[in-house]
Amino acid sequence: MNPLLHHVDLITRHRSRGPVEVGVVTAVNEALGAIRTELYKVFMPPGDVLIGLSAEIEAGSSTAVTYDDGFSWPHGIGSIEKLPHLQACFGSDKPAIECLPNGDSRLILLLRNEQHEPYAFLVVVRSIPLAIADIDIVRGFAALLKNCLSLLDYSETDTLTRLLNRKTFDEYLIKILANIPRQEDVGSGALHLPQRRHAHPQACDHWLGVMDIDKFKTINDRFGHLIGDEVLILMANLMRESFRVQDKLFRFGGEEFVALLRPAEFAHAKGTFERFRTRVENFEFPQVGRVTVSAGFTRITIGDTPSIILDSADEALYYAKGHGRNQCHAYETLVAEGKLQPLQLQISELELF
Ligand code: GH3
Ligand code: MG
Ligand code: MG
Repeated sequence: MNPLLHHVDLITRHRSRGPVEVGVVTAVNEALGAIRTELYKVFMPPGDVLIGLSAEIEAGSSTAVTYDDGFSWPHGIGSIEKLPHLQACFGSDKPAIECLPNGDSRLILLLRNEQHEPYAFLVVVRSIPLAIADIDIVRGFAALLKNCLSLLDYSETDTLTRLLNRKTFDEYLIKILANIPRQEDVGSGALHLPQRRHAHPQACDHWLGVMDIDKFKTINDRFGHLIGDEVLILMANLMRESFRVQDKLFRFGGEEFVALLRPAEFAHAKGTFERFRTRVENFEFPQVGRVTVSAGFTRITIGDTPSIILDSADEALYYAKGHGRNQCHAYETLVAEGKLQPLQLQISELELF
């Protein structure tokens, strides 16, 4: 097969971002006979531009390295100001080619996503000067990358709110559970599962929160389904503003949302969910006015199953619904205060009989 088409075949076989990016940097590096090809991801939290290395390959090494596991920050993420050669190209759609002090030639191309927002830089370094035909090849693979990633986006997101969908949630949660460091294994399994969960010795774990709009049925009934949909879209926007870039936000169907937080201390996790709740409380929804949400969240601990985690957060959410709504509760705190029965104890007790 033609080598370029062979690369296209390899790239389009994948269904997750990391391998697609690896395929693209590998293809560009080989097609251009480059010394090195790198892909940097661009993140734009409000008022900031962050850059992190996502995939790279060096001539002579048979495999490219990817740093994108879909959850952690890319390698060495930091302000774009730390990488002036990339900063100089930020906003420009023309590829920049320059001669480096050692005589190598370097090409930098800013890539934009479907919404025309900058999402990555492709950087290629070659000892022989880069020509127009080389730029065409880089542009071609950049277009292929954009198409592959937008297909992935499409299959992973909810069409109304553009938040991640339920199917993607299962994949992320399984990935988080598989990657929790076993560490001391909490006394090499000396503690039973229910006790392990409530002892929570680690300072920094992932967190899962379930958020549900209060009395949403009334909004639909009073203002109609279209206005109800508008509330869901605005709610998703408030979520994006309230959580950090690397937290994963999902619409779970209907008017229920889920957030998977990257590792944080309890106070930080609580602060994040509270920030969202108060932001919603203070937001003036066009025509509808004030809307509130209730939230329940829980720590993701080693040994948990996806259903136990979701059920724990749901228990905390039901508690909020049953105690006046427009509030946010942690499952662990409610258990510690004796306001909720520990879920796993309930289950293990049931299993005994
Ligand atoms: P609670 O405070 O207990 O959560 O009350 P609620 O009314 O929010 O909860 P309930 O589960 O009774 O009603 C949820 C409503 O959400 C019912 C359904 O019509 C509406 N809904 C579900 N999906 C959509 C959607 O995609 N768009 C709109 N507009 N409404 C939806
Ligand atoms: Mg509701
Ligand atoms: Mg609901």
